[in-house]
Amino acid sequence: MSAAEAIQETIILGSGPAGLTAAIYAGRGRCCPLLIHGRQPGGQLTTTTAVDNFPGFPQGVDGPELMENMRLQAERFSTRFIEGEVSRVELGEHPFKVWVGDECYRCLTLIIATGASPRLLGLGNEEALYGRGVSVCATCDGFFYRDKEVVVVGGGDTAIEEAVFLTRFARRVTIVHRRDELRATPVLAQRAFDNDRIAFRWDTVVSAILSDKAGVTGLHLKNLKSGDEEDFPCDGVFIAIGHQPNTALFSGQLDLDYEGYISTRNGTETSVPGVFAAGDVQDPIFRQAITAAGSGCMAAIQAERFLDDLPSEAQLSCHQGVCFKR
Ligand code: FAD
Ligand code: NAP
Repeated sequence: MSAAEAIQETIILGSGPAGLTAAIYAGRGRCCPLLIHGRQPGGQLTTTTAVDNFPGFPQGVDGPELMENMRLQAERFSTRFIEGEVSRVELGEHPFKVWVGDECYRCLTLIIATGASPRLLGLGNEEALYGRGVSVCATCDGFFYRDKEVVVVGGGDTAIEEAVFLTRFARRVTIVHRRDELRATPVLAQRAFDNDRIAFRWDTVVSAILSDKAGVTGLHLKNLKSGDEEDFPCDGVFIAIGHQPNTALFSGQLDLDYEGYISTRNGTETSVPGVFAAGDVQDPIFRQAITAAGSGCMAAIQAERFLDDLPSEAQLSCHQGVCFKR
């Protein structure tokens, strides 16, 4: 029987720290979960080189390496992986339905760990200039800015990390922040203040991205306090103004908060019994790899309890990764 024909006990959406931790726990707890990777296997941490605050790595760990280890650990506990992006879900009936392209998968419990995606400034030509001077990932694109002039927009941890990383390549990095105080944690902020290749434009926003046929040539900046405007020449702009939760699929089917995060209670329960949410997709506050992993663990344990409490005729019997109606 193919995975699409069988009813799965647990399907996990997303392969970041939340999804992979849920897979490790679900795999150890019951029969092998089915995990759908999404477009970014390994999630956000695959875009960073230095993860200094994940416990167990006294010297820090490379983001992609950490995620590959989590994947191998989930595989060891019989997680089955499916490449691809979920395009539709139907949570109104049990078993739940999940589509990847034309293939429909059914499951008794669903763990949503679809994380978050970079927020954009909302300027007209921003997306058209992706790969031609506009980037949301210094680890991915920094190499192309050797001896160039670059700008990082934002004042959080990501902006500071991106700026510090970019000084490996760029001649100068200017952080443009809309306030006069960073949001970033002090230890990270200090790294930027101590770096003489990083400059700051405080109280300033980007009102336009200037470009020619080849790509970005500069930014139009506006100081919010003085009202002064200027054209600032640069070769690239890295946008690091936070993330938005990947929840469009669930709108109208699950309760979301005013910012679009999945509302959870009692740990990782959503408004639909049997559907659990873990990681950045339900966390507007902490958004850390370790908290994502922690909530992935909680989701797997809660999913297992949900399965145990199902009436026996609804339960599945699983053997070597294939589940059958009892
Ligand atoms: P994500 O990592 O966002 O993973 C989401 C997963 O869902 C992806 O695999 C994606 O492919 C999948 N997905 C999305 N949509 C679908 C769909 N429709 N169908 C199927 N799958 C889907 N935190 C730290 O603790 N320490 C750090 O040093 C640190 N550094 C960071 C550096 C950067 C540059 C960034 C951007 C973030 C950093 N963070 C750090 C934050 C950390 O990466 C996140 O908190 C964490 O990755 C969230 O994990 P997650 O599993 O919830 O989601
Ligand atoms: P964030 O903490 O939400 O910060 C976003 C920054 O962008 C803020 O400074 C914000 O300004 C600014 N901003 C938001 N919208 C803007 C707009 N439209 N125009 C201009 N500026 C705008 O996001 P993040 O830095 O991506 O961090 C997300 C989470 O990941 C956080 O929890 C962070 O701690 C975590 N993270 C951790 C590490 C680490 O531990 N090493 C590294 C990276 C990320 P205001 O300050 O004025 O709101």
